[in-house]
Amino acid sequence: MRRRVLSGLFGVVLASCATVPASTCAPPARGVACLRHVSAGVARPRDPDALSPAQVKAMLRDFTDTLRRRYSVSDERQLEASRRLAGRIDIPVRFHVITDGRNGRLSTAVINEQLRSLNAAYGGTTGGADTGVSFRLVTADVVRNAQWFERPHDYQPQMLGTLARGGPGTLNLFTAAVGSEVLGFSSFPQWYRLRPSTDAVVVDYRSVPGGPFAHFNRGYTAVHEIGHWLGLFHPFENGCAPPGDGVDDTPYEALPTQNCPEIKDTCPAPGTDPVHNFMDYAWDPCMTSFTPGQGLRIRAMWAAYRAGQASAARRRSR
Ligand SMILES: [Zn+2]
Repeated sequence: MRRRVLSGLFGVVLASCATVPASTCAPPARGVACLRHVSAGVARPRDPDALSPAQVKAMLRDFTDTLRRRYSVSDERQLEASRRLAGRIDIPVRFHVITDGRNGRLSTAVINEQLRSLNAAYGGTTGGADTGVSFRLVTADVVRNAQWFERPHDYQPQMLGTLARGGPGTLNLFTAAVGSEVLGFSSFPQWYRLRPSTDAVVVDYRSVPGGPFAHFNRGYTAVHEIGHWLGLFHPFENGCAPPGDGVDDTPYEALPTQNCPEIKDTCPAPGTDPVHNFMDYAWDPCMTSFTPGQGLRIRAMWAAYRAGQASAARRRSR
């Protein structure tokens, strides 16, 4: 069962990512950015859902081009110096709980715990930098649909088209049975312009705080996937080769972290691997931090793609 879920999702990802021209940052048809794995060893070194180095570079180039176009600055530090960067970002969250009628139903208390987990991680109280991001629950709905619940990846267009609300500055967070080895997936902000209907984060309902997934039940799958939604790459992106994940203070890393090693150093460049970073693949209790550079990147990505943008006729508001 576990393997079947994994290979099934990989097949879909191969079909969508393989058709994306490497020279562009066009989103795949169903908006898959990241599939967080329980066992990174299974996913590497030939992880078919990984973005190619060319795709990562194109997305970073699109980011700097967008900053230049919107703010006449060439990087996020200039944007920060110009004082046009938001000090804090308050993100409204629309929480969609998908259930098959028997499984997947989350209590209000658990939903609130997931929000607390997000705010602790992004606020720096778990040990890292305060990214300047906080999350505020505005709606929570429970929807019974066995197909969406069991195959959220396949039914993304229907599920998001029916339930997602708000523009680029609203986070639509879904829980469903993503899988026992694949824990969640998300979109990137660069993709909103072309495919606003795929803008969302989906995580497995068993990965929420207190859920049944051992080692992955502090709600950090949502933290990780929302990191992508906010514009962060994995620290192991591009391995030891520049530009890595494009963030200055996350050391290069050849391979994703598994379990919870005390220390790991896989690249000759200075700095040990960021094994405790929320954007790596370690167990939830091992994850503690974002870096100041990731916080700055998030706020600049927000300025580039999500702040003050028209909702692109994407969703009805209600
Ligand atoms: Zn990821």
